[in-house]
Amino acid sequence: MQILTFAEVCQRGEARGKRVFIRADLNVPLDDQGQITEDTRVRASVPAVQMALDAGAAVMITSHLGRPTEGEFKPEDSLAPVAKRLGELLGKPVRLQQNWVDGGFELHPGEVVMLENCRLNKGEKKNDDALAQKYAKLCDIFVHDAFGTAHRAEASTYGIAKYAPIACAGPLLAAEIDAIQRALANPKRPLIAIVAGSKVSTKLTILQALADKVDGLIVGGGIANTFLLAADQPIGKSLAEPDLVEEARKVIDKMKARGAEVPIPVDVVVADRFAADAKATVKAVAEVGPEDLILDIGPKTAEQLADKLKAAGTIVWNGPVGVFEFDAFANGTKTLAMAIAASPAFSIAGGGDTLAAIAKYGIADKVGYISTGGGAFLEVLEGKTLPAFEILEARSRG
Ligand code: ADP
Ligand code: MG
Repeated sequence: MQILTFAEVCQRGEARGKRVFIRADLNVPLDDQGQITEDTRVRASVPAVQMALDAGAAVMITSHLGRPTEGEFKPEDSLAPVAKRLGELLGKPVRLQQNWVDGGFELHPGEVVMLENCRLNKGEKKNDDALAQKYAKLCDIFVHDAFGTAHRAEASTYGIAKYAPIACAGPLLAAEIDAIQRALANPKRPLIAIVAGSKVSTKLTILQALADKVDGLIVGGGIANTFLLAADQPIGKSLAEPDLVEEARKVIDKMKARGAEVPIPVDVVVADRFAADAKATVKAVAEVGPEDLILDIGPKTAEQLADKLKAAGTIVWNGPVGVFEFDAFANGTKTLAMAIAASPAFSIAGGGDTLAAIAKYGIADKVGYISTGGGAFLEVLEGKTLPAFEILEARSRG
């Protein structure tokens, strides 16, 4: 894929004295007091801003935050805490600009202004063309650096790229796509994917695509429960998508036909209710009762899967295999995390909760590549061309 990068634009001196509009992903978790609880995404956005400053540009940066209603400003949707944090990281003040769509605010080279939550703008999510043209008018150079939203075509992630005089990929976006494509273009075999967690329906389509590529497919969470149903096993009241059992069967058949496998759990950890202090009971899958909630894979299953991971060439991980937030149901996720850390395989991981598990078990430096994307990461795995890349590529062709 040939995409113009912001680094190239800067190297050619084309950013000097210019207005640069950076779309970052600064959608960080905030607590009740509006304090940032985890600032990875703010830190990840610094290189693009610094690159623009070093190149002599005037910098605007925006992002979505939370799920505000377009056109209705509420204080809790403000990027104010993010602007403050970014200022601390850059070592210079970052001014927050409200009502910025029609311009009219001052901005000089060497300055950074944060444009208030772009999802407050009417038409942002629907990629309204008139809004996108207004965004484009604000700048000379548009830099897309928000991998986490690269799978969505919105006014600040897609439309603006059509109209800005120059549209290019920021360093984070460029690094993400390079790393994921490098890992999957020519993976060392066996290639094993772990697809787990709670978003069963979105992830099952990904499994269809992965079933053509991977040598082993490890399922967990609500996805494993759906596969247990497909294997005619009882799952009680567990999270699953009964409507997708046929899909799951197709994945199993496709994998079998290629001589690949989808190991279905042999044992599970059940609870009688969804709570941190619920009693955890290990059961063989056939013993699961009608009132049981499966909240983790069992220890036998975890060990079997860990052995497969230790013998893998490449590992792709999305989704915790159990409710790892509750210690009694964390063993499966922890065992697999430790196996990934111990495995000589090149591993790549993505997904909000997957990253939380990686942090919880302290294995970040043992994972080959950690993506900042959730949905976008999955769509790249699926082999899709993300809208962000499609438009930037089209613009790079001139
Ligand atoms: P990611 O954010 O990494 O893409 P998901 O959002 O799909 O992952 O899923 C993560 C969530 O799935 C976690 O909060 C975890 O508690 C939950 N989960 C995992 N296993 C189960 C299960 N068996 N039943 C219910 N929830 C589960
Ligand atoms: Mg999640």
